[in-house]
Amino acid sequence: MEVIAITETKSKPKVALRRKNFEGICARCGHIRPLQLSHLDQESKTLSLKCKVCNELTTFPLIRVLKSGRVLSEAEYEERKKALATCIEYTPQQTYWIGQEIQHQRFQDKGTVVKKLKSDGGHHFIIVKFEKSGEKTLIEGADV
Ligand SMILES: [Zn+2]
Repeated sequence: MEVIAITETKSKPKVALRRKNFEGICARCGHIRPLQLSHLDQESKTLSLKCKVCNELTTFPLIRVLKSGRVLSEAEYEERKKALATCIEYTPQQTYWIGQEIQHQRFQDKGTVVKKLKSDGGHHFIIVKFEKSGEKTLIEGADV
């Protein structure tokens, strides 16, 4: 079965992917659980996912399903929406979302986070597509 999940960015709201396995908070367990696709309802744009631990079936709006398969809770979704709507100043200490818009003081440029990477040494990076400077790799989550 093909599932269309939606990754929210300001400009382009849709990303298609094939996926059977998801991860999100199960209503019965109350914890993040592996979830398996049970049903996709095109009409109401919802996914019914079965908890692999307790078999509880939960229906999630597609808009809260990330490309990675992670299903956001209502609170996480609201927080993410707020973060996506705000263009923040880049600092190496912060962590970022794919689709997030950031400003870089040194480049005097605005860009969108397009990819997240982890080096073998465990350092985290983001790839940002800047309007003028093009793609740049920046560090994130630095503990400086
Ligand atoms: Zn469960």
